[in-house]
Amino acid sequence: MSPDTCSAKGCTAPAAWRLLWNNPKIHTPDRRKTWLACDAHKGSLSDFLGARGFLREVEPHSPAGA
Ligand SMILES: [Zn+2]
Repeated sequence: MSPDTCSAKGCTAPAAWRLLWNNPKIHTPDRRKTWLACDAHKGSLSDFLGARGFLREVEPHSPAGA
């Protein structure tokens, strides 16, 4: 069992945040995709989603087993 890790490319840090997003072009409005982020990547990943209008919610994430 490995802890949940950050979704940023090449990052293996444990996730501390959960970014819930939706792409209205391909998802129904109530659908949520989840990206996990460490503290270092929370900003860049949420900026990426926010710039496209996809970001819906950001929640704290407790890594599995913590
Ligand atoms: Zn990261």
